[in-house]
Amino acid sequence: MSVLPILQELQSVHDNLAVIQRDLNNFPPELATLDADLKTTQKRLSDIAKTLEALETKRQEMSKTLDQAQNLEDSARTSVKAAKQKVQYAAALRDLDARERERNAVARPMKETEQRIEALKAESIELEAKEIKLQGEFNDYHATFLAEHENQVVAEKRLTIRRAELEQALGSSELNRFNRILQQRQGKALVAVEGGTCTGCRTKVRSMVLHQLKETGMVSCESCQRYLMQPANS
Ligand SMILES: [Zn+2]
Repeated sequence: MSVLPILQELQSVHDNLAVIQRDLNNFPPELATLDADLKTTQKRLSDIAKTLEALETKRQEMSKTLDQAQNLEDSARTSVKAAKQKVQYAAALRDLDARERERNAVARPMKETEQRIEALKAESIELEAKEIKLQGEFNDYHATFLAEHENQVVAEKRLTIRRAELEQALGSSELNRFNRILQQRQGKALVAVEGGTCTGCRTKVRSMVLHQLKETGMVSCESCQRYLMQPANS
C-alpha cells in the first residue's frame, strides 16, 4: 500500500470522527448543565487538594518551629524555678515572658493554618459526595443520550479501530508528521490542489511543485505544509 491512499483514508476517518464527536458532545441542556457542574466540582476538588498539600507542608514547618519555641520556654521556666536571688529571679521571669510571647507568635498562625486545613477537608468531603451524586446523574442521562445516538456511537467505534489500523500502516515518522499538520491546520492535513491553488491555504502552488505533484501524486504545500493531492476527479 503506498502512502497516499492511507493518508486519504486517514484524513477522511478524521473528518468523519470530527463530525460524530461534535454530535456526541452536543449535549441537550440538562446534560450540559450536569456536565458543567461536574467539571466545576472536580476542578474545585483538585484545587483544594493542591492547597491542602501546601498547607500541610506549612503546618509541619510551623510545628517544628513551635517545638523549638516550646523547648526554649520550658528551659526559661526551669531557670525561674532555679533562681535563688531576687535579681536573678526577676531576669529569669523577664526571659520567660519573652519566650512565652515568642511561642504564642508561632502558635497563633499555626492554629489558624490548622483551622483552614480542617475547613478545607470538610469542604472536600462534601464536594466528594456531590461529585458522586452528579457523576451518577450524568452517567444516567449520558447513557440515554448515547442510546439515542446509537448510530454515531457504533460508527465512532468502527472509525477509531480503522484509524488505529491506518496509523499502524503509515508508520510512526509519517504519522507524527500527519498528526502535527492535523493539529496545526484545523484538522486538515491532506487537501486537494484546485486550479493550481492549495485548497487548504488558498496559496498559488508553483508550477514546479505542480509538476512534481503530477509525477509523484503527492507533494507538500510550501505555504501551509499540508499534503497536497490532485483533485479526486482529475
Ligand atoms: Zn497550503
